[in-house]
Amino acid sequence: MTVIGCGYLGATHATCMAELGHEVLGLDTDPEKTAALAEGRPPFYEPDLAEMLDRNTRSGRLRFTSSYAEAAEFGQLHFLAVGTPQRPDGAADLRQLESAVSLLAPHLRRPCVLVGKSTVPVGTAALLTTTLRGLAPVGARASLAWSPEFLREGHAVEDTLRPDRLVFGRSDGDGRSLAALREVYVALITAGIPVVETDLATAELIKTAANSFLATKISFINAMAEVCEAAGGDVWQLAEALAYDSRIGGQFLRPGLGFGGGCLPKDIRGFVARAHELGAGRALGFLREVDGVNDRRRVRMVELAERACGGALAGRRIGVWGAAFKPGTDDIRDSPALAVAVALRERGADVVVYDPRAMDNARKAFPYLEYADSAAAAAGGTDALLHLTEWQEFGEVDPAGLADRVRAPRLIDGRSGLDLDRWRRAGWTCDVLGHGPVE
Ligand code: NAD
Repeated sequence: MTVIGCGYLGATHATCMAELGHEVLGLDTDPEKTAALAEGRPPFYEPDLAEMLDRNTRSGRLRFTSSYAEAAEFGQLHFLAVGTPQRPDGAADLRQLESAVSLLAPHLRRPCVLVGKSTVPVGTAALLTTTLRGLAPVGARASLAWSPEFLREGHAVEDTLRPDRLVFGRSDGDGRSLAALREVYVALITAGIPVVETDLATAELIKTAANSFLATKISFINAMAEVCEAAGGDVWQLAEALAYDSRIGGQFLRPGLGFGGGCLPKDIRGFVARAHELGAGRALGFLREVDGVNDRRRVRMVELAERACGGALAGRRIGVWGAAFKPGTDDIRDSPALAVAVALRERGADVVVYDPRAMDNARKAFPYLEYADSAAAAAGGTDALLHLTEWQEFGEVDPAGLADRVRAPRLIDGRSGLDLDRWRRAGWTCDVLGHGPVE
């Protein structure tokens, strides 16, 4: 099989497919990425991936190329894992997918199945089927199925090998695609992973619906945080009490700086845009508010920093702990931590950032921010320290040791991951996003 597009999703997928015993050829148009992967080095950080990639490239079961002719020759099943970024108007940009299908199709010479894994607006598989039919030689008997991916960065390997469910979408009467997917995933199916076999449109919708639900849950508790801040309630106790209700559940119910990354924000916006095209925009109006609540958390964080600095940020030095959009990854796409860092810089603060994994990516994207090479160094000389990505490492820092190194021992916890009693005992003034300032 081949995996076309070897970014966060594709490189992990290719490696895990090889781990399951398949012969895999990964294809990416970025030669630096394929070169690194071929040497067994993931071009990004993902726990457990490096070792598995190394093992499978060494065994020869996993190879990488940039040649579509080679991929067409090699695979009977082609996974499509290229990016679907956000267009300026909020809709999903499908050009990587259109290009991947257009470049592969003319080379196809034998019966094969293309399986989309990327997250797409409903109707994309139908469009790509038309492209495929138009460009593939008649004898190729190429069909297209959709099996969206649900992996979480930071847990990508585990999620690929032990997903909560598999979704197989195919067009009416396309038993060949279904048989191919059942064969590829036989180990997981035998292990009891549930499979939902459905049509193409439903498969596409399942993924965007899942991400919309998760984003809604995060913004729901953050909306409650806004109300608690105004009313003097405790959103943490509120969240705890809600979580005891098994119909609600506690996951994704942590108040804080909200969601970011390369998926949730763009996926809900793309879903809204597509619903409008379909004349069903009103059904998803609430997702605009989900997005709005999420953005306001970032604004609130900046306000708290400003307040902690006596009302003006100009000339103040602010330490930012975290650059990745969440712990366990070096992905900084739409990172809440960096959005706050940039906003503080725009208001005249000197911002110094530290992240255990995402420094290279952050430096490339925001060269005008200052970077420190440790958590302690980022805190040094600051007027306020902001905890914005909840890496375990930050919880292990000794606040007593830091208090002497700062200009003012003021902490604002945007992720509520720190033991604030300990920080307070060490002389720090602590604010928590969601609690409002603690006087
Ligand atoms: P990414 O940007 O990291 O990877 C995309 C890769 O495709 C890049 O390496 C790029 O060089 C390559 N590419 C672009 N055009 C190509 C072409 N024509 N041929 C071959 N390669 C090409 O993106 P990602 O995070 O891996 O996401 C990929 C898709 O998976 C998106 O639709 C995303 O929404 C979805 N998804 C991502 C995750 C995640 O956690 N990252 C989880 C589930 C679903």
